[in-house]
Amino acid sequence: MLIDSHAHLDSERYADDRAAMLARAWEAGVGAVLTIGIGEQAAGMQRALDICREFNGQPNLPRLYASAGIYPHNTQEIHDAVLAKLDSLLAEPEVIACGEIGLDYFHEGAPHPVQREGLIRQLEIAAARKRPILIHCRAKDGEEDGAAGAWDDLFEILEAHWRPTGLGGVMHCFSGNWEQARRALDLGFLLSFAGNLTFPKAQPLRDVAAKLPLDGVLVETDAPWLAPAPYRGQRNEPAWVVQTAVVLAGLLGVEGEEIAAATTKNFFRLFHLRADVGN
Ligand SMILES: [Zn+2]
Repeated sequence: MLIDSHAHLDSERYADDRAAMLARAWEAGVGAVLTIGIGEQAAGMQRALDICREFNGQPNLPRLYASAGIYPHNTQEIHDAVLAKLDSLLAEPEVIACGEIGLDYFHEGAPHPVQREGLIRQLEIAAARKRPILIHCRAKDGEEDGAAGAWDDLFEILEAHWRPTGLGGVMHCFSGNWEQARRALDLGFLLSFAGNLTFPKAQPLRDVAAKLPLDGVLVETDAPWLAPAPYRGQRNEPAWVVQTAVVLAGLLGVEGEEIAAATTKNFFRLFHLRADVGN
């Protein structure tokens, strides 16, 4: 059994076949999916929870969990009512995580100070609700060498505002270097790998992944984006988390069953869930 720890099941691209897509995931051995509640805009962040409630309880589908959060580029939409909505969503039992939140200096969306302030305000809400966080961090190309890049800013904020909570989280679609991986593990985070791990040019990322402990990793699709090889370029879906898991297993020198067991155990440990999957 595998868990897809990050998929956008609320995407319009599943409007016509969402139930069939989830059935394919179940057939492929995906027992649970964490669906991300960021919406297109912050106003749509409850859609993930709605989808959980629509499908949980139906036979032969993965168990669904939801998150809620305000994506870095939507942090300009933050005001008191949006934060109150986030707070109330995080109180729901299906909403096990706050995210994806973080910093994105790659695409020029919200100004960096607005992103940082928006992240900090959400960390306060997640801490009060005792929900682990899902971090999106994307550096500008070639930024690693410069000072105060996205990762530096992220770690500075997490050290000050998140480490003391002890709640941990997930570095979603991890694509950083070894130093960033080490710092994330030290903060109690799991590193989640998406389909880009399978891309030919991703050898540096595979080299980082190969050094990680089995109790520090997750797998995800980030569907509908980032379809793994051999489906690259197509609409992604949770069934294809298998391809990423196979590559990660090879890098860590374990069998497919071991990577499935380890990532599932890691997921349940982080979110304090009982191991009851499926419907
Ligand atoms: Zn995502």
